Amino acid sequence: MTKIDAPVVASSDVVVVGGGPAGVSAAVGAARAGASVTLLERYGSLGGLASGGMVLVLDDMCNGSEVSVTGIVDEYVDRLEAIGLAVHPPEEDRLSSPEMWRRWSRWGLFDFQSHDAIKPICYAVAFDPDGWKRVSADLVYESGVTLRLHSWFTRPVVEDGAVKGVVCETKSGPQAVTGAVVIDTSGDLDVASRSGARFVHDKYMVTLVFRIGGIDTEAAEEFQFGNEREAREIDRKIKRLLGGAWDLWWLKTPLPGIVWCNCPHMTGYDGTDPASLTAADREARKRIADVIDVARAELPGFERCFVVDTAEQIGVRQTRLLEGEYVVTKDDVQSRRHFPDTVCRGRDYYTPYRALVPKDVDQLLVAGRHYSATPDAQRISREIPPCMAMGQAAGIAAALSAEEGVRVREVPFRRIQEGMRKQGADPGDVPAPNATLDAAEVRS
Ligand SMILES: Cc1cc2nc3c(=O)[nH]c(=O)nc-3n(C[C@H](O)[C@H](O)[C@H](O)COP(=O)(O)OP(=O)(O)OC[C@H]3O[C@@H](n4cnc5c(N)ncnc54)[C@H](O)[C@@H]3O)c2cc1C
Repeated sequence: MTKIDAPVVASSDVVVVGGGPAGVSAAVGAARAGASVTLLERYGSLGGLASGGMVLVLDDMCNGSEVSVTGIVDEYVDRLEAIGLAVHPPEEDRLSSPEMWRRWSRWGLFDFQSHDAIKPICYAVAFDPDGWKRVSADLVYESGVTLRLHSWFTRPVVEDGAVKGVVCETKSGPQAVTGAVVIDTSGDLDVASRSGARFVHDKYMVTLVFRIGGIDTEAAEEFQFGNEREAREIDRKIKRLLGGAWDLWWLKTPLPGIVWCNCPHMTGYDGTDPASLTAADREARKRIADVIDVARAELPGFERCFVVDTAEQIGVRQTRLLEGEYVVTKDDVQSRRHFPDTVCRGRDYYTPYRALVPKDVDQLLVAGRHYSATPDAQRISREIPPCMAMGQAAGIAAALSAEEGVRVREVPFRRIQEGMRKQGADPGDVPAPNATLDAAEVRS
């Protein structure tokens, strides 16, 4: 039994910890399902890695030509597009051809998983980080969620094996927020790990994303496609300095002349250890400075380039992962295993409700990149849209639990599926033709 040793500043049906893609979706999903909701975020704005980490492409949201991740993510895209801060390929351009590759590849809007010689252009969305913050706040306020920024979760309030609230550190000292259900969307399993839930701790590469401005992107693309051998040599030189990058180290953004760089890839750093992250930051800045020097000197279109900004937070892809009621495996993701209790979808894979529910702690749900998956499964199932769908499903489940007074682990998954559909999200209860049916489904 933990006593609340801080003033209680808010109380609501549902408390969401972490205002990233999963957290905002959880809070909005729960509020729209009728719950009172408090959303807590350690930083001064919403968006998590999508804004503060400057991760600027929404991907893993289609299964071939079918758009598989829907719901709150669509509202972001519509709102961002309406203010000129999102770009995606029209349906007729979503195919594999040299022409489409020239038109869209530098936006990063292609199927990363494809093994085709020319990767197909697909439904994916390039967006602006400040726009993401703005839309996140609009959605949260419009749905009646109580938002508390600058509130750093430090410890849970646990009574008889059930979470009753959380305590945050703030400039005013510790503050408690209580609720019937808590959703951990911190990305690093902060709440669940401290509440006694089982987890594994692993790591994957980290990245300080940066943006470069003052670029003539047309000239840069002309050089790339018109002087392939020379372009490849400069590219190799820059990638050596970065010490690791995806195939295309710079990608266009909706802001003219400004590109984002989803690199350098840096391995061996622990995203929960301040000393390790400090060392990663130092290393990243050195590499970025070296790249800018070479790009200015050698890369056509980059002659007058400069660093616009580096991300407010270093990009951490994986730390603690829940070991929940079900642990999703790499084979589940790759074989597109469909589960009877699927409540949301990723690209072509399915997420069961059990992967959001801790084993040992009650009234706690988990959504986002720290969900219950093996480390190798998480690496291929953690993109922004699937994390948003998980958040929305968890929010609906939490609202149902609070409304009906049932434990979160006992909320019928069919009700969550219904709730998702009602909110315009695909719960994934109907398997696509390329899914593998779970043994339980084959039997039934
Ligand atoms: C460098 C990099 C590149 C990537 N590239 C892509 C890409 O191109 N496309 C794509 O779709 N995905 C990409 N991803 C993956 C994607 O960004 C993440 O998996 C996704 O953002 C996870 O969302 P989340 O809400 O679970 O977690 P996060 O985005 O990490 O959000 C967690 C939120 O919780 C808050 N928080 C954490 N701890 C506390 C605390 N103790 N108290 C209060 N608040 C707290 C954080 O400040 C943050 O707002 C990339 C990730 C990285 C790191």
